[in-house]
Amino acid sequence: MPNQTPCPLVVGESAIHGKGCYAGEFIAAGAFIIEYVGELIPAEEAYRREQDPTRSGIYTFWTGDEWAIDGYREDNTARFINHSCAPNCDYRIEGQHVLIYAARDIAAGEELSIDYSYGADGEVVPCACGAPECRGRINSI
Ligand SMILES: [Zn+2]
Repeated sequence: MPNQTPCPLVVGESAIHGKGCYAGEFIAAGAFIIEYVGELIPAEEAYRREQDPTRSGIYTFWTGDEWAIDGYREDNTARFINHSCAPNCDYRIEGQHVLIYAARDIAAGEELSIDYSYGADGEVVPCACGAPECRGRINSI
């Protein structure tokens, strides 16, 4: 687990989708930004929640085939990080922890993004990230 202090982040309206997460100050390439925190649930429960129409969004972050983190809770600022096909952050899964790092230098005020890489064989989710290299879908190709 990284022992750096998480970077200051600001949540605000996003140009990509709903609310977004913005860098509160310059973040250097490779720096740890934030952990995606939530309830650790087994695959069966994660599928059930993803299909539940009474929930207002999907916040399950899979840590492998058998477990996912349900990040739908107040203190999980990382849930506001949107998908981009040309993201400025990437994530590493260490055990059952999802850690988000800067993939390159990020300017203060820039919106943070990661590549969600939904499964290629799952339901296709259209993408509107606006990146020149946008693949048109959040799923992997
Ligand atoms: Zn895209």
